Amino acid sequence: MLPKPGTYALILLSRPEEDIQVGRLGRLQIKPGFYVYVGSAFGPGGIKARISHHMNISNHPRWHIDYLRAVTCLHGIWYTYDSVRREHQWAEIFAHSRKASTPLGGFGSSDCSCKSHLTYYYSHPSLKSFSRKIHTRYNDHETVHMNKIFGSAKTHEK
Ligand SMILES: [Zn+2]
Repeated sequence: MLPKPGTYALILLSRPEEDIQVGRLGRLQIKPGFYVYVGSAFGPGGIKARISHHMNISNHPRWHIDYLRAVTCLHGIWYTYDSVRREHQWAEIFAHSRKASTPLGGFGSSDCSCKSHLTYYYSHPSLKSFSRKIHTRYNDHETVHMNKIFGSAKTHEK
């Protein structure tokens, strides 16, 4: 992963948990399955710096995702170095996916008009299907890459 700006999606694997408090946004009931969170990194260090933030558990959660990340495993990352900020387009595609649901409105979308930047899938979402949708709708969209994480990302020990 490079220190270049871009857009990414975290694929988080969850186990049944109690509900968690997400800052001042509200409570989220954690279901077993996959949570997909969309963000973008256009600041210093780009995608690389942002992903290393998400690899670890924040002791001082700042973003909504930090609360969810603390109770899930980081399973994979989809990302693009597209110079256009694609996060809202991605969030919309995920939200309208037939297999997805939106567990908490406003998650990660306090500063935009998206319903949510978080979606829930019972089974692993398909990059192939996502990629096809995004390139069909936005034909100038750069390639979407995938990084799989094999148990290296930290999760909370209980
Ligand atoms: Zn948005």
